Amino acid sequence: MNPSSLASVAVGRPVRGEFTYVVPEALSGRLTPGQRILVPFGRSMTLGFFLGPAVPPADGSSVKLKPILKVLEDSPSLPADLIALLRFAAEHYRYPLGEVIRSALPPGLSTAQDEKEAKPDVQEFAVALVTEAPEALRRAPAQSAALAYLLAVGGRAPLEEVAHAIPGARETLKKLAARGLVRLEEVVLAPGVREGLGQNRPERLTPEQGAAVEVLHTAVDAGGFQPFLLHGVTGSGKTEVYLRAVERALERGRGSLVLVPEIALTPQLVGRFRSRFGGDVAVLHSALKDRERLFHWQALRKGTVRIAVGVRSAVFAPVADLGLIVVDEEHDPSFKQEDKLRYQARDLAVVRGKQAGAVVVLGSATPSLETLENTRKGRYQKLELKRRVDDRPMPTLQCVDLRQERPKDPLVMQEAPILSPPLLDAMAETIGRGQQVILFLNRRGHSTFLLCEVCGASVKCGDCDVCLTYHRSQNRVVCHYCGEAHSVPEHCRECTGPLLKMGVGTERVEAEVAERVPQARVARLDRDSATSAERLTELLASFARREIDVLVGTQMVAKGHDFPGVTLVCVVMADTSLAIPDFRASERTFHLLTQVAGRAGRGKDPGRVLVQTYNPDAEPVRRMLVHDFDGFAEGELARRKALSWPPYTRMAAVRLEGESPEQTASVARFLGDYLGRHMPPSSWGVRLLGPALAPISRIRGKTRWQLLLKAPTHAALAPLLARLEAKLVDVPSAVRVTIDVDPAAM
Ligand code: ADP
Ligand code: ZN
Repeated sequence: MNPSSLASVAVGRPVRGEFTYVVPEALSGRLTPGQRILVPFGRSMTLGFFLGPAVPPADGSSVKLKPILKVLEDSPSLPADLIALLRFAAEHYRYPLGEVIRSALPPGLSTAQDEKEAKPDVQEFAVALVTEAPEALRRAPAQSAALAYLLAVGGRAPLEEVAHAIPGARETLKKLAARGLVRLEEVVLAPGVREGLGQNRPERLTPEQGAAVEVLHTAVDAGGFQPFLLHGVTGSGKTEVYLRAVERALERGRGSLVLVPEIALTPQLVGRFRSRFGGDVAVLHSALKDRERLFHWQALRKGTVRIAVGVRSAVFAPVADLGLIVVDEEHDPSFKQEDKLRYQARDLAVVRGKQAGAVVVLGSATPSLETLENTRKGRYQKLELKRRVDDRPMPTLQCVDLRQERPKDPLVMQEAPILSPPLLDAMAETIGRGQQVILFLNRRGHSTFLLCEVCGASVKCGDCDVCLTYHRSQNRVVCHYCGEAHSVPEHCRECTGPLLKMGVGTERVEAEVAERVPQARVARLDRDSATSAERLTELLASFARREIDVLVGTQMVAKGHDFPGVTLVCVVMADTSLAIPDFRASERTFHLLTQVAGRAGRGKDPGRVLVQTYNPDAEPVRRMLVHDFDGFAEGELARRKALSWPPYTRMAAVRLEGESPEQTASVARFLGDYLGRHMPPSSWGVRLLGPALAPISRIRGKTRWQLLLKAPTHAALAPLLARLEAKLVDVPSAVRVTIDVDPAAM
């Protein structure tokens, strides 16, 4: 059989591998890789993706092959570089290729239907005509919120997006337009249309920015794969470096992809891209409607929109002629997807850059140790920004040793201070000067557990192996794993003794501030208070307008916000993330502390950071307090090396979950035995840890076990994982087994 008449096809079903089909005479010459097609599969028809010509099977079984039935589109949905990326992802993360492709495509293209054009290349934009809300708007909260959103994202945004963030905003924006506060306009999307934007482009770069930009421009001009780490302290102007690199790629006629951890929390960053590049930017966030997603997909693929800014799934955006990929805050854990296709978007970004021949910039104030190690080995080139813009000083850091602040009488155990005297003084002083404070604690709720005063038992969730958190505002105890809420128990279930409210959450900190610093206007930012995108926008906007003096929050306050009024940042308890059972606990602590400290002193007034802790000598705390990232990284890398953890090994986790504790345990042992028997030669260095109960051994009533595999390279692990995957057909369906390659959390 003529090889050109056979096609390799991925089918949109949860099956592994690629399939061979016959290209019928009528379709020959009409197929391009990446096209969506219709193929028979089993007893029905299904969506498929043409990947390229196939070689005839060696056993001569070609006679039984079935034909491709139909081509669903003229120009392929998947550009060539994306096919390569999706193939890599399926292989590396052990996930069916058809499912990988389907999860990357917008819903409109992931069914077996002819492609429809989403809509013409015109998008309605709202443009703010003022820089702040006038007094008169105070009594119109809906209009106020819509305008605040618009201002937060740089003064212009598609109507669609505002209406998504703030329900009913279409009508509201029309009212604002009638008042002359907003202009509505239709923008024809076409490359190069910039509508005289870019007014916030600084005239001069700092010397460090200038040097970094020059290197990146040269790399973009050269037009091949080149990976960089942009290591810049908080406030050093990394975003401006990204913007200049994107600008250069545009000038060279090439597209850019910019990945950010969480758009809702950093609207300012999106705003800066939009006000610089206008209609050239597609913003891809997780809450887009199907129609918008399809629209962006088609516009990017055709090249009518050249820049995609988005969260982790945007790594699959079909940017035409990709020349540059930026990953901002590359260390952020949200780049790892934790269900279905468990991919690491930062890692895929580098793979894609290599395949597409693009420049890749990984930016962070606290690079991940994986990226740092790649830099040390010379695989990535390091660009550094060591100083803040305008030579603004780094915040001064000060430790408050909670061991010294403890009450001297050991009997008053629940009186351990939440806000120590130095912290209270600093807050009062800051507010007195008309400046703002951020208080950070990575625990939601009021009290993180209830403890029996008599027998010491704590109140746990019936379905999960975790303590319940007391939420005072709801007057309930809530499980933070399954979300189940219960009325607050009055007595210990074991011995009927009275229960003490132990452990501090953000709700309690907020109450404490209200009581101890009564002059402060205090608000809280966490998943309980920011219940909708609208509420979140309102809170952030209100803080930016300085209507709030003290903002108490979880890691949601640590992200890339730029609030010039904040001169004091307090970490209520640095210890919370130190004790998690994960080899990355130290690294994570260092990142969080540095990130939140970076919110202080971004305006003209210098910043100050107070860190309360019981462990002032713990490495991440001690090093963070002297701005010593390099020293911390050095020590932590040495420790990882000594204990053979990543980045010196590659890992895979095999996770099991089942209703029956006995059955789950027995499957875990079965898989453990199987892996043990099929270990590669010891010279490959593959090691098996477990089977063991997972650190949280029960969630939603299901027992959890895990096996961990470690090896010097991924290549040493891959054959074993493929084997294990094939063996999973023998596992009873009551136990769910997932393979998590390069796991982020233990
Ligand atoms: P980072 O992302 O490194 O924390 P940003 O990119 O947010 O820092 O920059 C910090 C602030 O400095 C922003 O308000 C930004 O607009 C401003 N900025 C950046 N570069 C310059 C420059 N060359 N001149 C003046 N201001 C700048
Ligand atoms: Zn639970």
